[in-house]
Amino acid sequence: MRVQLLPGTIDEDGRASARQHLLSVVIDDRVAIDAGCLAFSCSAKQREQIRDIVLTHTHLDHIASLPMYIDDLFATLTEPIRVHATREMIDILERDIFNWAIYPRFSELSNSHGKVVEYHAFAAGETINVEHLSIQSIPVNHKVAANGFIIAADDSSIAITGDTAETDEMWLECNSREDLKAVLVECAFPNEMSDLAEASHHLVPQMLATEVQKLRNNARIFVINLKPMYRERVVEQIGSLGLPNVEILEVGRIYDF
Ligand SMILES: [Zn+2]
Repeated sequence: MRVQLLPGTIDEDGRASARQHLLSVVIDDRVAIDAGCLAFSCSAKQREQIRDIVLTHTHLDHIASLPMYIDDLFATLTEPIRVHATREMIDILERDIFNWAIYPRFSELSNSHGKVVEYHAFAAGETINVEHLSIQSIPVNHKVAANGFIIAADDSSIAITGDTAETDEMWLECNSREDLKAVLVECAFPNEMSDLAEASHHLVPQMLATEVQKLRNNARIFVINLKPMYRERVVEQIGSLGLPNVEILEVGRIYDF
């Protein structure tokens, strides 16, 4: 399984930066988990192939480029973009984003081939088949209803926590997967901002240290979703924990699991 965290911002020279304002993870160039930066930084091949977008939750850094992704492809789509989300998330998207005031309600529009967007609702905890992947949603502990996913292809699986504070079910499910190769886990803020992390339901490195102890298999753990303004502090604090198996996921790099 090829996994790529797309770049979510640019540096002062106009190049892709490791700082991560927005989140999109692309699997095998065909399925996107979240659409924070999908429209802004996907490759031409990804734009041509990705018609399935699976959402962890509706916070802006996870959906910001969804309207543009559909907009860019509007005239050329020969099949709709399928947005996989819980009913609650779909209602939020329709009410707060695709409401004509913020952006067009694409679900009411068609091109010459038919519908341009289609919502596919899943229930929290459900396993869905998306392209060649089996994706199990797992409710996590965030400020809004949010899911992590265990994503399985033929011979391997990976987990993505999405945004979450302390959580157990995700790790329990990870422990039940013998083919689990990697867990992508968030760590948004540095330790000195634990009050804000608690209020917004995110992790800091000290909490991450407790969370990763819950993993009982040998999967590699990759940290994502570091708030861009505190990236160096968070990286430094995670490094000083000396946790084996824990790395920072490199933005833009293609990992093969
Ligand atoms: Zn969030």
